[in-house]
Amino acid sequence: MFEPGVMFWAERDDLEMVRSLGVRYGQLGIPGGMPLTDAAAAQWKTALASAGFTLVTVFAAYDGEDYADIPAVARTVGFVPPQSRAARLARTLAVSDFAALLGVTSIACHVGFVPQDAGHPDYLAVREMVRRVADHAARHGQSFALETGQEPADVLLGFMRDVDRSNLRINFDPANLILYGTGEPIAALETLAPLVISVHCKDGDWPAPGVPGALGRERPLGKGSVGIARFVETLRKVGFRGPLNVERETDDRHERFRDLAEGVALLRALAQA
Ligand code: MG
Repeated sequence: MFEPGVMFWAERDDLEMVRSLGVRYGQLGIPGGMPLTDAAAAQWKTALASAGFTLVTVFAAYDGEDYADIPAVARTVGFVPPQSRAARLARTLAVSDFAALLGVTSIACHVGFVPQDAGHPDYLAVREMVRRVADHAARHGQSFALETGQEPADVLLGFMRDVDRSNLRINFDPANLILYGTGEPIAALETLAPLVISVHCKDGDWPAPGVPGALGRERPLGKGSVGIARFVETLRKVGFRGPLNVERETDDRHERFRDLAEGVALLRALAQA
C-alpha cells in the first residue's frame, strides 16, 4: 500500500476522474450538506467495488466552515464553535455510520484549533466531543483521525493523550503545518509517527511575514516548501505503510486534476525509489 492514492470529495469529484489517475486507494470527503442515506451508501459501495477502489478514510466536513484566514478558521472550523457543536457531533456520528456501511475502518476531520489552555471550557467541550466520536467509531471498528496543522505537534500530542482513546489517530498533512505556520513538518512527523494512520501528500508555502492571521499558500505537490522527497523518505523510515494520498485544494477542476495527476506521478517515482 506504499503507493499513490488520492483525497477526493463527493459531489465535487466524480469517481471516473479519480480512477483516471490510475490509483487504487483513496480518501473520500463528505461535504456537510450531503444526504447520508442508506441508498447513497449502497450506490457508493457498488461504484467503488466495480472500480476496484479501496477507501482508507472517510472525512467529515461541516456546513459553515470558512478557511479564508486563520481567524476565520478559529471561528468556524470543526468542534470549536459552541453554537454548532451539537449539530456537528450528530453529523460526525452519521459520517461514521455511513463509512461503516461502506466498510471503511477510519474516519477523520479537522476538529479546529484546540485551545492551548486545558482548563478552558472550549477545550473541555472539544475533548468530550472527540471522546464521543472516538467511542462511536470504535463500535464500528473504526479509528478516528485528527487532521494535523492547526496546532503544533506537541500541543496535538498533549491533547490526544488527554482524550485518552486507543482508536484516536492522526491524518498527517505536512502542508498544513506550513500553511498555518505551526511547525516544520518533517520534525512534526517524527514526533507524531506512532499515531499516524493516514497521510495527505499536499504542498504549500509559509505565510507571508508581517501579515497577521494570513495563511500560507497551498501549492501543487513538489512545488511548495514541504520537501516531498524527504517527507516520503521519512514516512518510509518511520514504518508508515498506507497509501500516499495526494490532496489538491484548488476549486478549478481542470487545474486540480492536472495537479493531482502530476502529484501521483511524482509519488509513484518517490515510492519506488
Ligand atoms: Mg489535508
